[in-house]
Amino acid sequence: MLIIMNSQASEREIEEVAARVRALGRAAHVARRDDETVIGAVGEGRRLPAEALLRLPGVANVVPLPKPYKLASRDFQHDDSVVMVRGVPVGGRHTAVIAGPCTVEGEAMLWRIARHCRERGAAILRGGAFKPRSSPYSFQGLGAEALAMLRACGDELGMPVCTEVMETRQVEAVARHADLIQVGARNMQNYSLLSEVGKTHKPVLLKRGLSASVKEWLLSAEYVLAEGNPNVILCERGIKTFEESVRYSLDVTSVPVVRRDSHLPILVDPSHAAGRRELVGALALAGIAAGAHGLVVEVHDQPETALCDGPQALLPGDLEGLMGKVQKISEALGRKLFRPAREHCPLNAAGNDRHPQRESR
Ligand code: PEP
Ligand code: MN
Repeated sequence: MLIIMNSQASEREIEEVAARVRALGRAAHVARRDDETVIGAVGEGRRLPAEALLRLPGVANVVPLPKPYKLASRDFQHDDSVVMVRGVPVGGRHTAVIAGPCTVEGEAMLWRIARHCRERGAAILRGGAFKPRSSPYSFQGLGAEALAMLRACGDELGMPVCTEVMETRQVEAVARHADLIQVGARNMQNYSLLSEVGKTHKPVLLKRGLSASVKEWLLSAEYVLAEGNPNVILCERGIKTFEESVRYSLDVTSVPVVRRDSHLPILVDPSHAAGRRELVGALALAGIAAGAHGLVVEVHDQPETALCDGPQALLPGDLEGLMGKVQKISEALGRKLFRPAREHCPLNAAGNDRHPQRESR
């Protein structure tokens, strides 16, 4: 249920309504939208007494939140959320590109590839430290060592960094090093992991599960939001279908569906969907044209020697060509492509902004 406070409601009235909601056995999530404050009363239990809540001082209206996911829904928040990833806006009228190698294979390759990505306009550096591999015999990532490399590289180049967390025991270390914590497709329904990353209050990149519906995906986002962490970015990365010519089928349809039903930013990862370099560009552009707020793309300068996902990695020159087209499509849609400053400027020590901004659609 959503309780809409009138625009003159005092802080005290808002707190009293929230306290009443909690006394009724629900969590109270207070959010501002336009010039009003809303309180999402979420949780299970006996039916809430809507008429009684409506009579409380400062309450303008009480409406149901009909979707199974509540805080992720557009009913809770009409405007687009813009999640700030260490100064990079993701969502709303912004386009941002996250790029980097599949896996951090060592210091030299990370720095080389990061520079290539930054020079071509990528806003955020990605790189796997803990890798979810189909085979236990495949390279599993450099772990904690890679986290430190990513942090140092991102700081020096002025790029926020994104890396995957695979299990709850890694959350503390990943949250300490990363600006954007990735929950991979295979973990989309790892609910204890989602709650744990929710508690960090750091931006979270939530990939869609390999065979998850949009509803299940938004319910997973709800686990993070329900912990009081509003900084969730979704990422469509392709789903399993009967098609065999690609690794996964990029479900471009999910982009407008998510944008209709949720205020959360959504990115597209064409690399893991395509599985082949020559298909990545077309899928990336389709995603942006469908309304995605940006991309996650894998880049390698020596893909033939890559320890993981070489065949799908774009070469630095490919990224350059793609960025130009992404910029044009973004502009046609009234979006602004975020590009890093021309000069390399080390990131300052300031952390992430704790709350997303809002932008009317
Ligand atoms: C990745 O981004 O490195 C990755 C493993 O992606 P996914 O979880 O989408 O397979
Ligand atoms: Mn990969």
